[in-house]
Amino acid sequence: MSRISPSQAAAGPPDPPARPGDRAPNMIIVTVDCMRRDRLSAYGYERRTTPFLDSMLDGALHCTSAHSPSAWTCPSVVSLMTGLDPHRHGGGLVPGSPKNLSKQNLPTRLPRGVPTLPELLAARGYRTAAMIAVWNAHLPMPDRFHELAMMEKPASKLVRRALRWVRSHRGDGPFLLWLHLGDVHEPLDVPRSMRGLFGDVPNVKRSLTWDYTKRTDAVGSPAFERYRQARTTLYDVAVRSADDGVRELWEGLGALGERDRTLLVVTADHGEEFWEHRDEELASFTDPRDIYGTGHGHNLFQVHLLIPLLVAGPGVPPGAVDANASLVDVVPTLLQAAGFDAPPGLDGRSLLEPLPDRAILAEELAYGYEKKSVIEGDLKLLAGPEEGYERLFRLGPERRETGTVEDPAALERLRRSLPGDSAMGEQVEATDEIVEHLKALGYIE
Ligand SMILES: [Zn+2]
Repeated sequence: MSRISPSQAAAGPPDPPARPGDRAPNMIIVTVDCMRRDRLSAYGYERRTTPFLDSMLDGALHCTSAHSPSAWTCPSVVSLMTGLDPHRHGGGLVPGSPKNLSKQNLPTRLPRGVPTLPELLAARGYRTAAMIAVWNAHLPMPDRFHELAMMEKPASKLVRRALRWVRSHRGDGPFLLWLHLGDVHEPLDVPRSMRGLFGDVPNVKRSLTWDYTKRTDAVGSPAFERYRQARTTLYDVAVRSADDGVRELWEGLGALGERDRTLLVVTADHGEEFWEHRDEELASFTDPRDIYGTGHGHNLFQVHLLIPLLVAGPGVPPGAVDANASLVDVVPTLLQAAGFDAPPGLDGRSLLEPLPDRAILAEELAYGYEKKSVIEGDLKLLAGPEEGYERLFRLGPERRETGTVEDPAALERLRRSLPGDSAMGEQVEATDEIVEHLKALGYIE
């Protein structure tokens, strides 16, 4: 575990005043890395992966069509913390074309002038901390929280640490805590006692990491089917483990007397692909790693973008939000729930207000030629100009691509809504420590 103390942060957030006045709500944001929406029983999945979130649904505001603004961690978590789409915030972006994080081409830092939620709240007397289990999540924003702890550990360990932190700061005023859980990211964290939770798991090699990713791999073979069954079942177990962690967090806050004044957000930074678009990716796209159909960071199909998004707590009326939503909506929602003004010019909208018809954007890959997508209503345009790819999809009731649409007027309208060129922060330099951690996560070779 490494820890960056506030004194090491060159230009970090202001220290909170010793005794802030009246008590604003605490905020806790839990992002479960790689947790795609359709694998949660809270969103209708047949396996009971999220009993705790299921139990929260009646009292929470929950989005049925929430999207990540990128298909991998770095740009997405910056959007989460800024309320801006990636091309506007410039943090966590991989320069060059084709993009290739795997060759130690690291993402950019968020430019200093772009404010983040922890800084906005620190200025209002909040104490802020981030506890991060997927190491790269901190790279674009290394010094925006008063405390930042990197812990490549399962949810239960992060939650224990988080509750210790809450206990030690009780009486200091409100806090913002960001927990970024890594249980569902490869290598999967699957507690031994839970392995058989959803039935027998075939005993195959590499079931906690990715296999059958290359063009020539025998996808569809009996050996592949055994692997796929093991990999996806263990993914579901890892989702359950993360859900258990959120339950422990919520119960722990109750025991500390903090729950009733805490706003809780549970979401993910992006989804994950289990070979759904492999054939199309092989036919239409070139990945510099020669990896197709698995994981994230390489494409912008709905399996990569659809995420759960729940908000609960004081000032948040429960109910379903069916309009298209995005991770950029979290900042304005939390600020409104707490009674604070949002900074002008955000891309996100408060989920506490009726949402207007608008374009939901996604962009900024980690691998391959850049693709951009825009969703308006039930239509989605996915464009990869450098590979000559452009498809207008209709989204079905499950919000997945259900086929292409011939509609020149709609195509032209969505083209105009595609994200523009990206602002770019300064690139993070590859140190031995960074390279070692990103190798362990499967991001670089
Ligand atoms: Zn991620």
